Amino acid sequence: MRNRASELGAGLPPGADSDAIRSVAHEPILVTQPVLPPLEDLLPSLQEIWDSKVLTNGGPFHQRFETALTEYLGVEHISLFTNCTIGLVTALQALDIQGEVITSPYSFVATAHALLWNRITPKFVDIDPHTLNIDPERIEAAITASTTAIMAIHCYGHPCDVEAIERIAHKHGLKVIYDAAHAFGVRLPAGNLLKHGDLSVLSFHATKVFNTFEGGAIVSPDAQTKLYVDQLKNFGFVDDVTVVTPGINGKMSEFNAALGLLQLKDVDRAIDRRREIDRRYRDMLGAVEGIECVGFSGEALANHAYFPILVRPGYPMTRDALYHALRDNGVLVRRYFYPLISSFPMYSQLASSREENLPVATEAAAQVICLPIHPALRDDQVERVVSLIASARRRP
Ligand SMILES: *Cc1c(COP(=O)(O)O)cnc(C)c1O
Repeated sequence: MRNRASELGAGLPPGADSDAIRSVAHEPILVTQPVLPPLEDLLPSLQEIWDSKVLTNGGPFHQRFETALTEYLGVEHISLFTNCTIGLVTALQALDIQGEVITSPYSFVATAHALLWNRITPKFVDIDPHTLNIDPERIEAAITASTTAIMAIHCYGHPCDVEAIERIAHKHGLKVIYDAAHAFGVRLPAGNLLKHGDLSVLSFHATKVFNTFEGGAIVSPDAQTKLYVDQLKNFGFVDDVTVVTPGINGKMSEFNAALGLLQLKDVDRAIDRRREIDRRYRDMLGAVEGIECVGFSGEALANHAYFPILVRPGYPMTRDALYHALRDNGVLVRRYFYPLISSFPMYSQLASSREENLPVATEAAAQVICLPIHPALRDDQVERVVSLIASARRRP
């Protein structure tokens, strides 16, 4: 077997302190690493929970965290959830979505799974080659008499073309749900990203920009919708003895809420550090032929949740060769989003899953690599990743 690691150069930037770099060379560089508060900061909250013995069911931490989040995110109506996937399933229930829903194949599999759990047929449409978000121009052609909604995702935290999507939805009487799992803290110059669409669903999973270990939330446009979402996540109870709908258990526990309250204090600093790393990657990778950095519209105040690059044909190696070479060198990059959702067996038989229907998504899935980005990533680690990428040699 070829030694793939040797296909990349030593990975030393010009003038770098080679001893310092070598000393960290074997320490794996993770694609992400969760942010955690100091444990001692959490202990008073745990004491409060132990004292009160209120562990869940909308206790005091749940209420405080929900209020703090509405303030931080600049929205009025938030329902906390146990995770984003249950949030997506519940959002579809809340809007009584049936039939066919137009969605992107270029996402985490939970986006489409939420449709299948509601016995809804996903209809995949292609993505925009620059943002890798659902391409509004493809949506209209995919609408049939059975279409009831659009489920779009703000991929990598880059905002969808929300205006175009809303125009189409309005014209055809469709609902819009945003999978906003990547979009925590993303802002638009005018207005609030989370106020677009009928519902937006956030994820607070360990790997996301903001985490409560596991967690999520639905952003509703009004108090009445929030009330219904709150009933749906609590078995459909409206009071002790009245059940109005076959709800699910989607409640966030007091532990996760207490942690979230604490995590909120540091999230701005974490995003600032991500922004610095993003800028560094962009500056240094700009000179590498065949590597294209995705996104950065300048339109949004980004959260830098991911740092995706596309390995174009001008690069000396294929995407997979670079992927394995980086991993062999201890840089644990990931191929988000490969394979496309539409290629998994429960989706691949759909007419809309055919590759000819999804040329842009198919190409992106074949070329993407997400580079390490998280607040604890050091500058020398960023430099090491870049110099490994820059030093690839063409095979003889
Ligand atoms: C992480 C993720 C989800 C699922 O979030 P959980 O909170 O883990 O359920 C859904 N959609 C996208 C796009 C994601 O990245």
